[in-house]
Amino acid sequence: MKGIKVLVAVKRVVDYNVKVRVRTDGTGVDLTNVKMSMNPFDEIAVEEAVRLREAGIAKEVIAVSCGPKQCQETLRTALAIGADRALFVESDEDLQPLAVAKLLKALADQEHPDLIILGKQAIDDDSNQTGQMVAALSGMPQATFASKITIADGRATVAREVDGGAEMLSLALPAVVTTDLRLNEPRYVTLPSIMKAKKKPILIFVPNQLGVDVTPRIKTLKVSEPPKRSPGVMVPDVKALVEKLKNEAKII
Ligand code: AMP
Repeated sequence: MKGIKVLVAVKRVVDYNVKVRVRTDGTGVDLTNVKMSMNPFDEIAVEEAVRLREAGIAKEVIAVSCGPKQCQETLRTALAIGADRALFVESDEDLQPLAVAKLLKALADQEHPDLIILGKQAIDDDSNQTGQMVAALSGMPQATFASKITIADGRATVAREVDGGAEMLSLALPAVVTTDLRLNEPRYVTLPSIMKAKKKPILIFVPNQLGVDVTPRIKTLKVSEPPKRSPGVMVPDVKALVEKLKNEAKII
């Protein structure tokens, strides 16, 4: 069969619309009754892979998620967007980027994808590490923060978002690419595609099976809320404003 095989990593995270609350003991973010969704950058990654499939450039799109059993819902969303099948690594451990990268590498060793697409960063831990680590562990070239991907003749040409412009890279496949916000606009998932996704297969693994030790290496010491902003005051005129800036704020 012609076409490339694409592996896409999708993480289940707190929905981007949720205003997160820090637990009162400062050990982390309170997740009780909080809406969870696919990491927005991963939605862009799935969309890009599915577009490659629809353009006949990819022959198969496989979504992967690692975490607790509810990640299967995230995988169902990826399947509804258009992924062909899914791999789920079940673990209740706090999966840190290195552990996830090792799991993705182990799956890549089994599946031999030509392209691995990840989000540039997960909006919960903001690590921006997993894609880079997968590339390093697999010995694959990488292009991070992609705003355009073109596949031709066994190579990926990637435009990267960099300060003040774009950088164009050419990578030999197999390669790792991480998505930036401007790569595409993910489609709206329709009810028929959700129904169709229910029939697509999800293969389940545990980290041990893949020979990966997922024990956390980093310990969170403390999580705290940003300082509260004090309310503003109305000043009667410019003179009063200048007076406050000079004598209270001391910035002029
Ligand atoms: P991070 O390095 O944590 O900012 O995550 C970067 C990207 O790695 C995410 O956008 C996902 O594509 C992928 N990723 C991270 N953690 C997981 C996970 N538990 N399962 C699947 N993909 C993940």
